[in-house]
Parts: sequence; structure tokens; C-alpha cells
Amino acid sequence: MDPNGIPNGIGKAMKNLDLDGHDLPPSPTPSSPSTGRKYALATELVYTESNDQFNASSTPIYQSATFKGGPGQEYDYSRSGNPTRTHLERHLAKIMNANRALVVSSGMGACDVITRILKPGDEVVTGDDLYGGTNRLLTYLKENNDIIVHHADTTKLESVKAVLSDKTTMVLLETPTNPLIKVVDISGIAAAAHAANPAAIVAVDNTMLSPYLQNPLDLGADVVYESGTKYLSGHHDLMAGVIGINNVALGEKFYFMINSTGCGLAPFDSWLLLRGIKTLAVRMEKQQANAQAIAEYLESHGFKVRFPGLKSHPQYALHWSQARGAGAVLSFETGSVALSERIVEATHLFGISVSFGCVNSLISMPCRMSHASIDPATRKERSLPEDIIRLCVGIEDLTDLIDDLSQALVRAGAVRLTENGFEALELHEAGRTNVVVDEP
Ligand SMILES: *Cc1c(COP(=O)(O)O)cnc(C)c1O
Repeated sequence: MDPNGIPNGIGKAMKNLDLDGHDLPPSPTPSSPSTGRKYALATELVYTESNDQFNASSTPIYQSATFKGGPGQEYDYSRSGNPTRTHLERHLAKIMNANRALVVSSGMGACDVITRILKPGDEVVTGDDLYGGTNRLLTYLKENNDIIVHHADTTKLESVKAVLSDKTTMVLLETPTNPLIKVVDISGIAAAAHAANPAAIVAVDNTMLSPYLQNPLDLGADVVYESGTKYLSGHHDLMAGVIGINNVALGEKFYFMINSTGCGLAPFDSWLLLRGIKTLAVRMEKQQANAQAIAEYLESHGFKVRFPGLKSHPQYALHWSQARGAGAVLSFETGSVALSERIVEATHLFGISVSFGCVNSLISMPCRMSHASIDPATRKERSLPEDIIRLCVGIEDLTDLIDDLSQALVRAGAVRLTENGFEALELHEAGRTNVVVDEP
């Protein structure tokens, strides 16, 4: 394959070359211990084997666009393949329980690569609480490429089945959704989609949980993708997108697109992402423990909290049947947009920012920020409350986080001091809920 993606005939002459011209096995070498038992995920995350000439402990950054040499060598041009990127892809494939992983320049880049296989007239079935960027891309495809997009309430198998047919070419799911934290039955919907059309591709956006907590390919999905910008990286210092597949032909289609458009992840960012992945387990464990405690704190004081770690979550059992943890994103409502705005502005430790997955805690109002690209009418139709506050919990000390939230609730006027602690103000007036917050 030459840099223009035109087959140059060399592949035919060389045995065992994959589509990108690499003489490497299509699936990662298993790093199982001699007992035959598979290593646990926390071990796989940090353990990497490499054949580096100097036995470097950290995978070297091959900051090179070209590689010298004649036909048949492993690398020639970094758009087609780069050793640092390949190392990351093989490491990720193992972690995602995939045969092949591909890394691109952002999560939306991954979504773009996947949806480029759609042809005019193809039908896509997807959710009604999608990530704003995904919604924007699907709207573009609908308006410009004649793709038919059905938004269904993916929490109800029946409403998904109602729009599935033999014309369904792709089903695009997110679970839990953000910020409504709706849980989607991956295996149930995958089975229904494949029954409607055996060739339908079920793609799952796994950004909210990461491969540490959920493996959609094991649940019947054909493609898993996620934003590496979030938990995989963990530090908000890079943007990346990751795609995992078991189907070889599908993997080749996606690779063709990446090589053709040039969206493969750069060597330096590939190295940074490898570095982030090594601490995924410890970060995620701490983040979700903090998130659980904060969700319980807010709920015990009367707020309507959405978090799959709470027994009150309407799909608690479904979530735990397909995931190993609740993640670290939760949302809650206050009953008033102005009040929510004051709370968001009054926190110190929770940075006002879009995105999540970082070691720092973040706070945002999705209707004003990440989901602002969805017009107000559509937000209303999808019952996205304008006052909803999203918390993305980091690895800070839990007491500090709860103190920060408590003082923000007081300063925002959500609660007032009484003999019994704090008592809700506006929430009372809105007649929604009865909030009493303990003295911080
Ligand atoms: C952030 C995000 C994306 C997009 O990823 P980028 O790396 O920002 O392009 C897609 N899906 C979900 C659920 C996300 O949170």
C-alpha cells in the first residue's frame, strides 16, 4: 500500500501482510501467565511487551513521518502506520477484548470513521439522549448524505424494535447516556438488530465507562468506540478516539478510511495515551468510589440524582448485568435554572468545564455547555431538564469534595441554615423536593 492508499502490488507478493502492510498478527499477543490463566485487566493495563532494541521501559515516540527502506518493510509513512501508534493499538485491542483496535485523532473522529461506511438511503437507529457531537454529525449525514436517522428511547426495547427493519444498517448506542444517565440493554438491542437485519452493525460508544468497566463486544456489539480524551487518557492533555472490532473485514474498512483521510493518532499523542492507560484502573476505582459517595450525599438530602450506583436508578439491575461499575459521572436537578447556575459558579474544586474522565472534578450545566448544540425544542422533546447539573468526579479527597459542594449549595441559596442543619429554599418553593443539608 503506498501513502495514497493505492494497493501497490507488494502485498500480494508478501505473505501474511495485513492491509496496512504490516507483517504482524491481526490480534494482540496474549500476555497470559504460564499457568494459562488470563491476567486481570488491572495487570494488562500496565503490562506491555515490546521488542525495542534498547529494552526501553517506555515505548519510544517515533516522531517520524517517513521510514526509509524498500518494499515490504513494516512502516513507510506515518499516515499508514507508525510504530508508536501500532503499539498503542495492540495494547488497546487486548484491553477492549477486540481482535483489532484503531486509534484516531478524537472520539468524534472515531464516530466519523464508523459512520463513513453508510450509504445514501441507509437507516440508522440511535438514542434520544446522545452526546451533542454525535447528534450534530448524524444531523449532518441526514441533511447532506440522505441517511435516515431514527431517534428512539433506547431504554425501551419495544421502541427500538418499532424502528428496526431489514433496512437498518447501523445501530448506534451509548450507555449510560449523558447527562440523563439512561441505561441501554446492549445485548437485547444487538440481538433485535441482528434479527431484523443480520448485516446490521451495532456500534456502542463506551466513553462513559471505559473498557475497565464495560466491554460491549462481549455483549453482542460489532463495534465499540470511545473518546480516548476521557477516562483512557485521564488528564485532559490530549484528544484521541479508539475503535475496537472483532470482525476482520470491518476492521479493514475502518483502517482504509483512516489511511485515506489521515486521521490516525499522531505519535506523541499515541505515547501520551499509552501512559494514561497504565493508571486507568486506579483512577477509575477512586473516581467511582468518590462519585458513589457524592451521589448518596446528594440523594440523602432530597435532590433527584441520576447515577447507576444508586439503587433508586430505575435500571440499576440492567446496568450491573452488563457493567462492572457505575462510573464517575452523575447528574442532579435543583428545580431552577438560576439556582443551578449559582451552584455551578459557587464551587471551587469542581472546575466549570465540559468533558469528563479527568483526575480533576468538574461541574457543568449540559444545556448551556456540552449539549448546547441541540436546539431547545429538541432538548425539551427529549426531556432534558434545563436545570440539570452534571458532576464528573475526580480523584481528590472525598471530604474536600463534599465540603466544596455543601458550601456551594449554601452560597447559591439552595439551602439555609436552621437549628437542624440546612434547609432548602427555592426547592421548597418549587414544591419539588425537601432538601436539608448537614452542616459542612
Ligand atoms: C467526548 C465524547 C465523545 C467525543 O469525543 P472527543 O474526543 O471529544 O471527540 C463522544 N461520545 C461521548 C459519549 C463523549 O463523552
